[in-house]
Amino acid sequence: MAVSRNAMHIALMPGDGIGTEVTEACVAVLQPLARRHGLGLDFEMLRAGAIAYRDTGSAMDEATFGRARAADAILLGAMGWPGIRYPDGTEIAPQLDLRFRLGLYAGVRPIRALPGVPVALADPRAAGIDMVILRESTEGLFAARGKGEVIEDREARDTMVITRATTERLSHFAFDLARRRAAKRGRRGLVTLVDKANVFTGFAFMRKVFHEVAAHHPDVTAAHHYIDAMALDMVRRPWDFDVLPTENMFGDILSDLGAGLIGGMGFAPSADIGDGHAVFQPSHGTAPDIAGKGVANPTAMLLSAAMMLDWLGTRGAGEAWCEAAAELEAAVDAAFAAGLRTPDIGGRAGTAEVARVVAGNIGARL
Ligand code: ATP
Ligand code: MG
Repeated sequence: MAVSRNAMHIALMPGDGIGTEVTEACVAVLQPLARRHGLGLDFEMLRAGAIAYRDTGSAMDEATFGRARAADAILLGAMGWPGIRYPDGTEIAPQLDLRFRLGLYAGVRPIRALPGVPVALADPRAAGIDMVILRESTEGLFAARGKGEVIEDREARDTMVITRATTERLSHFAFDLARRRAAKRGRRGLVTLVDKANVFTGFAFMRKVFHEVAAHHPDVTAAHHYIDAMALDMVRRPWDFDVLPTENMFGDILSDLGAGLIGGMGFAPSADIGDGHAVFQPSHGTAPDIAGKGVANPTAMLLSAAMMLDWLGTRGAGEAWCEAAAELEAAVDAAFAAGLRTPDIGGRAGTAEVARVVAGNIGARL
């Protein structure tokens, strides 16, 4: 049984590009929020990413990885930069190493329409979009990462891996999440596995294991949907879905589609959660096209930080963490409901302005 705690050690990895800008805005909001709830956030700044690689030859050295692993949670901006790559030509993405090395199998990607933020669909029901894409983040087609082969310049192969153990853990995670959401929203939870079980052995196996797990969660409705039909329905009736567990690459694609529905990448938070560790970061990248201008939308980062506070609370640190999370989310919603508009949705409020307004909603002056 975890002991209630009112101080947490957070590894802060701002990374590159707008990652550093949204991280700064986020920390400025988190500090007064924590104080207000009688909580302590002790941030440890860690350097990792493309610029770190360019300057030191290591994107995330072992000491840095060790510090991150030792923290209660990891809050990450974004990493990578055009023109800076590993010698084999692949992107600098130490956040992927964190996922694999810390076993962060559950990629939690909420897709929620914020009050006042224009959605991509004209149907008034789109204002009620509120689902969570649950991207398996350690295997699937991404298990092939770094292991693919090109045979005699004639053919290339990557192998998809679906294991029972990870599918079971991800499925239990999905049903537990749906149950919590159902309690908050006052309606029965729905978990819809997204797969391609009609074509691939791996997905047929994933579906079988998913339904075995579903039998342990009779209070939540279990369903499955093909990825192609899901792509259609994400646009046609996204308000009908709740929790959507899926394979790694499908989740990668669907979460960008989902972000597009609700205002863009600047509104899409994420968490990568394992059994002992978790990384919280916006779904977007380093956005080199707008970096350094102070215009990046920090909303995804703020909502990711809210997910972090909530995760700390639900793991046993105490209800105060969940209350702080709920207040942060409500402060972000209230800012947009009152007319705040960032440049990515046609407004003028820059990164610092969003932080100032959100902080104001929790009674703090920045
Ligand atoms: P990655 O490979 O890391 O996923 P990416 O190349 O897909 O990165 P992003 O960095 O996510 O690209 O950006 C995609 C587009 O969305 C860019 O045009 C960028 O300007 C915009 N964008 C991303 N994040 C934000 C944000 N927080 N605020 C405003 N615009 C953003
Ligand atoms: Mg991308």
